[in-house]
Amino acid sequence: VQVASNTRLVTVGNELLAGDITDINSPYVAQRAFTAGFPVSVIEVVPDDVEAIAQAVVRAVADLRASRIVVSGGVGPTHDDVTLEGVASGLGLPLELHDDVYSRIASTTARLHQAGRLPSAEVSPAHRRMAMAAAGAKALDNPRGLASPFAHSVGDDRWLFVLPGVPREFRTVVDDVLLPAFFIGAVALHSAEIRFEEIAESRLAPVLEQVEREFADVSIGSYPHTEPRELTIRARGTDPQRLAEALARIKELAPQ
Ligand code: ATP
Ligand code: MG
Repeated sequence: VQVASNTRLVTVGNELLAGDITDINSPYVAQRAFTAGFPVSVIEVVPDDVEAIAQAVVRAVADLRASRIVVSGGVGPTHDDVTLEGVASGLGLPLELHDDVYSRIASTTARLHQAGRLPSAEVSPAHRRMAMAAAGAKALDNPRGLASPFAHSVGDDRWLFVLPGVPREFRTVVDDVLLPAFFIGAVALHSAEIRFEEIAESRLAPVLEQVEREFADVSIGSYPHTEPRELTIRARGTDPQRLAEALARIKELAPQ
């Protein structure tokens, strides 16, 4: 299925590459971006390294099919949080103190100090780093944390976002901030599936090929499972009616 524009994800974290944690943010945004009509075309996982992040940003921006780019993780206060620096470098922009974000951090710091939860009312150097973003960055809301998400315009209706990696913050920013404001105006995508029990994938292969030819506007995927032994056939496209018809046709042609 041809779509006008894609989403590219750049997920940052040494712990993801080491296999210590599983990336749960990418599938979360991928499902929603697909539904909104901006399906994900590439997911890159890169280490907490300025140069590696910068290069991934350069690749994503050079990919003109990608009108939405989501970079996540590594925007916190610790020494290994270098994503804002990597993004600035990749965009070829200087890193600057973002005044609004700094004020927000300063007032939160003062409030936490008053509540006895921070030793000083002064913004720490670690927290100040979280307000250093590429020049021209537009600050977005983070309803669940201190780390500010950012948006950068990278062309005609093309946006790059930088999001916190903490999954609950990431999910809330995606749902409450990104989707309603930036993932709109595209033709929505749908998916539907059927399941077969006890059928070898290879026996269905010619049927899938034929139905894909008959339904040029539907893309068909075949996903075998072993426990239990089952075969899921999933159809994706813009017209739910056509998906249902394509799946019905597969059922009709499937070997008994
Ligand atoms: P913080 O302000 O806490 O430093 P951050 O944006 O810098 O947030 P990270 O430092 O990358 O985010 O990660 C914070 C926590 O969220 C870590 O426990 C990390 O393992 C987890 N995390 C980050 N990215 C992902 C992801 N893609 N999937 C699952 N967990 C993630
Ligand atoms: Mg961090």
